[in-house]
Amino acid sequence: MRTHLSNRCRVHHCSKPSASRFSPYCHRHKSIHRRQGAPDQTAITITELRPFRDRVLARIASNETSPLWAHLEDRWITIVSEAKTDAKRSVGNRYQRSAAYEFINISMDCDPRQIIVTTLAMFVLWHDMPWRFRSDAAFRIQLARRVRALSGRHSGQVYDHRTGKQKRIYREMTPKAGNIIGQKLSSAFGATGFQLALLDKRAREDALKAQDAIATALKELQ
Ligand SMILES: [Zn+2]
Repeated sequence: MRTHLSNRCRVHHCSKPSASRFSPYCHRHKSIHRRQGAPDQTAITITELRPFRDRVLARIASNETSPLWAHLEDRWITIVSEAKTDAKRSVGNRYQRSAAYEFINISMDCDPRQIIVTTLAMFVLWHDMPWRFRSDAAFRIQLARRVRALSGRHSGQVYDHRTGKQKRIYREMTPKAGNIIGQKLSSAFGATGFQLALLDKRAREDALKAQDAIATALKELQ
């Protein structure tokens, strides 16, 4: 029988011993998998997301009177009211409940527009740079993490016995709750996010065509 000592981490170029007999990854990659959604997924940072967020904001600004944004806000309100129902249930899936608490926390700190813009921006990023996500599951976790980071409530104050002072701790979201959050946000806003990415792509193509037309016309000048 093979013991865990003979098993190696499956991540390319790693080959450290796996964390346990049942783990396909070493300790480090197991922990990255838990936090980021895939063992070789790196976090999407706020800086990386910013240009995509700016594009979404520009699209909203040029379509201010569109009823779309109010419809999307309604969808967020529905997610929060479902979360309130889920949170009250004493029986049922505990991951669902923990996702529900996360949604309630987010809704207390952020306005719907912020949440929607961040989610749409994540979809535009995914559309333009699909290689940035190792899998659909990794995308859902990254989406949940970026939206959750809009709220300050995922860190809490705890008393540190050694120093006698209050200290801030970061409360990790469980992978299952993250997946539920990512899934709900995707089904509410994903189609719109991809559509915005397509509009941007078409605008870029039109700009290139116009450039070509100018170049051609210049060449034909007598
Ligand atoms: Zn490894």
